Amino acid sequence: MKQGRFIPCPSCGKRGDWLAASSAPFCSSRCKLVDLGKWLGGEHVISGPLKGEENVGPEESGIPVSSSKSEPVL
Ligand SMILES: [Zn+2]
Repeated sequence: MKQGRFIPCPSCGKRGDWLAASSAPFCSSRCKLVDLGKWLGGEHVISGPLKGEENVGPEESGIPVSSSKSEPVL
């Protein structure tokens, strides 16, 4: 009999034929989510001052300033 490829789950360390599963290489989709959450929460933390207050768009009020002279019409 074949022993198959038993690999340990990266998340919980449980051994099994996870490569055949849809959540490979994890034993279950739960472990996949756990590992993903760990990854996102651990290394992808955006820390630092974000300066974007000074960047004001060209449109202040939405009304384009046009040079309309009010000349006295005789
Ligand atoms: Zn697992």
